Amino acid sequence: MKPLEQLVRKNIWSLAPYSSARDEYSGKEAHVFLDANENPYNAPYNRYPDPLQREVKAVLSKVKGVPENMIFLGNGSDEAIDLPYRIFCQPGRDNVVSIAPTYGMYKVCADINDIECREVLLDDNYQLHADELLKACDENTKIVWLCSPNNPTGNSLDRDEILKVIEGFEGIVIVDEAYIDFAQQQSLRQELPTHPNLIILQTMSKAWGSAAIRMGMAFASPDIISIYNKVKYPYNVNLLTQQQALEALSDPFEVDKWVKTLLQERSRLMQAFNDLPICEQVFKTDANFFLARMTDAQKIYDYLVDKGIIVRNRSRIQLCQNCLRVTVGTRTENNELLSALRQW
Ligand SMILES: *Cc1c(COP(=O)(O)O)cnc(C)c1O
Repeated sequence: MKPLEQLVRKNIWSLAPYSSARDEYSGKEAHVFLDANENPYNAPYNRYPDPLQREVKAVLSKVKGVPENMIFLGNGSDEAIDLPYRIFCQPGRDNVVSIAPTYGMYKVCADINDIECREVLLDDNYQLHADELLKACDENTKIVWLCSPNNPTGNSLDRDEILKVIEGFEGIVIVDEAYIDFAQQQSLRQELPTHPNLIILQTMSKAWGSAAIRMGMAFASPDIISIYNKVKYPYNVNLLTQQQALEALSDPFEVDKWVKTLLQERSRLMQAFNDLPICEQVFKTDANFFLARMTDAQKIYDYLVDKGIIVRNRSRIQLCQNCLRVTVGTRTENNELLSALRQW
């Protein structure tokens, strides 16, 4: 890895961050707070929330086995995806490399930040080849984007190939693990201490059933996390979200139950898709959704919409011709989908 100072934009490296009242004073003993121009009435919503979300991180640290100073919390993964562009990439000069097909936000954030996004096609089994990906990198490549399990394909990328990318690339490698709780494959979290250029993204939006609260997380070296903290909005995760995250995190066993049920439903749904005459191929998945190649994805999509059932039409995406992406729902929802498709 290049020295961090060489990877971070000069203006960010030398940035003096905004210092809020709650940053300057964070002790416990005080009881009269006249420092932040808050209204003394309407507790608890009158007070600014903890800018570093310490309580949430303390719990998350135990759940994930990652020290608190290696955790960043953001307004969804969206924030954790956007910030690295602002931290590492000089608009008009630097570039990033991502796999394709993959999650759309990496490219959208690249475009917003005026950063070139180079896409390296996965193979026909949606697998990554580290050597090919590394060939697309040059001296101005700051970030490599990987997503495993990948969206919209559902499969996990080969762990050894991911490690080859992390070890063979001099810049930052971001692995989006939004669906890791559904996966056979293990998280890369334990690789963090030995791989200082690795950033791992996870989210409360999928297995944790909390997409509405908007909380995403990044795990990385303490040095990278402190730069994230310097660049983020001071109060990026609001009080209601922090409270609700604590509530959700207090019951990880509930999540385990959901995951177990969803994985059973997933295999039942995939089996049933395999038996449909209008389905040509069901792709291997490690997530709470799967990709299915249909005889005519657009027509089937429209037919389902007509019945009030919405799946995702991915047929215009590279390597996903005629493919629908199906999220696993409740048993009742899945049955409704199947009976509609059987009536085709
Ligand atoms: C759903 C999803 C996320 C979650 O994004 P949030 O902003 O945290 O809701 C992140 N990455 C991928 C690949 C996803 O599919």
